[in-house]
Amino acid sequence: MKLTLTGGCLCGAVQFSVKDEFKAFYQCHCKQCQQLSGSAFTSNILTAPTNIEWLKGKRNVTVYDHPTRGFSKSFCSLCGSALPFINKNKTTLIIPAGSLNELPDLKPQANMFTSEEACWLKPGLNAKGFSGFPE
Ligand SMILES: [Zn+2]
Ligand SMILES: [Zn+2]
Repeated sequence: MKLTLTGGCLCGAVQFSVKDEFKAFYQCHCKQCQQLSGSAFTSNILTAPTNIEWLKGKRNVTVYDHPTRGFSKSFCSLCGSALPFINKNKTTLIIPAGSLNELPDLKPQANMFTSEEACWLKPGLNAKGFSGFPE
C-alpha cells in the first residue's frame, strides 16, 4: 500500500492528494526559477502526470506556460501559492515541495543550475538565525 500525501494552497481554496511514488526531488537555482518563485531556488518533486487527485478548487488553479521556452508555473488564482503542474511535454507532474502538507521520505537529490545561483543564497544561509522575527 502506498502512502497518500495531501497538499494545497495557503488560502485553502485548492487541495489535492498525490501518492508517494516520486521519481526525483530537485532544487533548481536558475534565473527563471528565481523569477517564478521570488526566492533563491525552487524545490520540486517529480512524479507521473497521472499521480494527482484534485480534492477541491481545481477551477482556481491558473497555469502559466512560457510561450517559447519550457517554463511553467501553476498557482492559486486567489492567493498565488505554487501548485503542481504537468510539464510542457506532458511527461512529468511537478510538485512544489512547499505545497505538500506532509513530506515524503525522499530528500533532495540534486541542486541544478548552480552556475546561476542567487548571490544572496550563501550569505543568507550564514546570516544570524532567530526562531521568530529578528530582534
Ligand atoms: Zn489559494
Ligand atoms: Zn529552474
